[in-house]
Amino acid sequence: MDYKVKDLSLAEQGKKQIEWAELHMPALMEIRKQFEAEKPLKGIRISAVLHVTKETAALVKTLKAGGAEVALAGSNPLSTQDDVAAALVEEGIRVFAWKGENENDYYNNIKEIMKYEPQIVMDDGGDLHAYIHENYSGKLIGGTEETTTGVIRLKVMEEEKVLKYPVIAVNNAFTKYLFDNRIGTGQSTIDGILRATNILIAGKVAVVAGYGWVGRGIAQRLRGMGARVIVVEVSPLRALEAVMDGFDVMPMSKAAEIGEIFVTATGNINVINKEHFLKMKDGAILANSGHFNVEINVKGLREIAKQVRTIRPYLEEYTLDNGKRIYLLADGRLVNLAAAEGHPSEVMDLSFSNQALSVKYLIENKDKLEPKVYNVPQEIDETVAMLKLRGMGIELEPMTKEQIEYMKQWRYGT
Ligand code: NAD
Ligand code: SAH
Repeated sequence: MDYKVKDLSLAEQGKKQIEWAELHMPALMEIRKQFEAEKPLKGIRISAVLHVTKETAALVKTLKAGGAEVALAGSNPLSTQDDVAAALVEEGIRVFAWKGENENDYYNNIKEIMKYEPQIVMDDGGDLHAYIHENYSGKLIGGTEETTTGVIRLKVMEEEKVLKYPVIAVNNAFTKYLFDNRIGTGQSTIDGILRATNILIAGKVAVVAGYGWVGRGIAQRLRGMGARVIVVEVSPLRALEAVMDGFDVMPMSKAAEIGEIFVTATGNINVINKEHFLKMKDGAILANSGHFNVEINVKGLREIAKQVRTIRPYLEEYTLDNGKRIYLLADGRLVNLAAAEGHPSEVMDLSFSNQALSVKYLIENKDKLEPKVYNVPQEIDETVAMLKLRGMGIELEPMTKEQIEYMKQWRYGT
């Protein structure tokens, strides 16, 4: 069978969701029109591991409009929107994803989409690229990578000289990380926390681990809703930025004692660990919006808990031996994609316009690219910004001839 989804009868609802997303993705829709006319991906087989959301559906339909055949697996066991998955099957996409996969299902679905012998692969987090390097011998034109951690993993592969095909680091486009990681995660993380808990943010002490692009977005939005925000960082540069932005900065060992809501956004492992759980206040809420389910040591939390109860969807209560209750959201997986719907369509418009144009670029330059990690070409980044501005009805100030000439000279001084 060419698909495996939860329930095909959800397709009608999924179609409406996709339409709603597309209404808010003007840049991608413009690219779709160009793809429909020019068919730059004609005959290309693409296998993608992306969160199966209404926004990803808008991207996949765009790739299809460009002439590609697409197979899709989910990028997280909890992030698939089952109605969207069903609608995509009706669009002729080979979807292998459902909400609530176990780890075995997750990797089986990756295996399924690789059976179509793709020429291009698209990944979010690096699991597909790693799988291919360990289990697949077919030849690829290249791939793309959506997120920070995936790019970090690929750079290690490049350094170890094991990378087998060129990969475009979509994450590193200005029009990706500055908006998706910062503004998108800032909003969708709060969305996930609220859907899971319905707590009041105002007045709470929130601890954000990591002050990178994701962490700063979350810290700023939490502050905007009235939380008192503490930042935990390992980098002196980022810690300094956080202090100058007006946040308290301290190690997790201290923050653990005073925080009421904890959010991790580091891409690292065991950022909140056993010794921290033991110091926490009764009622502390833990969420992860960084990478996988390793930022919070969920296994360790289970080991020291004497009782675990599900309070409501995506909210689990762990009672420790010391009698304190700790609340873990979405099993420590990405709270914004598991408990909510991921980033709003408006930001995914930018990320996925970069994805679509990067796939086209890989095909057009297939004879020139080497097995390396490439940044998105600046031209694509600027095109995406222009398309987005146009979609938002915003005009630029044009430079005068005099100004263009002035910027090219070095003789005029004070
Ligand atoms: P980044 O590299 O800009 O920031 C990560 C920060 O975490 C760095 O400043 C680093 O110094 C800090 N850090 C590392 N270890 C730490 C520790 N033990 N304690 C405290 N701070 C620590 O990366 P980013 O773009 O902000 O992405 C962060 C993570 O979020 C990545 O895993 C990325 O893939 C993921 N991400 C998730 C979403 C989402 O939708 N939830 C969106 C984009 C990115
Ligand atoms: N497999 C990893 C992936 C990290 S997810 C994991 O599950 O931990 C982080 C990425 O999710 C971001 O880079 C962002 O671009 C993407 N994302 C966020 N909201 C999304 C949405 N609505 N649809 C599709 N992808 C989304």
